[in-house]
Amino acid sequence: MPLRDLFYCPADNQIYIDLSFANELKDRFKAPGEFALAYVVAHEVGHHVQNIMGISGKVQQQKQRLSKEEANELSVRLELQADFYAGLWAHYTQNMKGVIDAADIDAAMKAASAIGDDRLQMEAQGYTVPDAFTHGTSEQRTRWFRKGWDTGDIKQGDTFGARKL
Ligand SMILES: [Zn+2]
Repeated sequence: MPLRDLFYCPADNQIYIDLSFANELKDRFKAPGEFALAYVVAHEVGHHVQNIMGISGKVQQQKQRLSKEEANELSVRLELQADFYAGLWAHYTQNMKGVIDAADIDAAMKAASAIGDDRLQMEAQGYTVPDAFTHGTSEQRTRWFRKGWDTGDIKQGDTFGARKL
């Protein structure tokens, strides 16, 4: 389920955010804290990076030749890479500014976990349909964010080549 209050638009290279989303994170997703919001915005910036690197375009093309299930899996890979990029951003922000503490990372992980497909589907319909996942599970989203944060190495973020997502 895409979050309709926050998205990146590749056509005009803008990120759109309804600021009530900050409250939604806190109240609905139980992920309070400004760093939870920083994470979701950084994820959208990750999509911008994918766009200018030509990754999203390639994915878009490939998806047309695939079954719905396969296209969904490709979406998951794209989304998890955006989570990884958000982690990278946090890593380098910390290196340059030293403003991120453990509680911030916890807040980001909480948000990543709260917007996992499994969690959202369970909330919405009481069961999960993995073939319909388009963003990755809570576990995957937190793990790829953390990998970017821990390594600071963009080469580690090849979610398309990764056997284990
Ligand atoms: Zn996304």
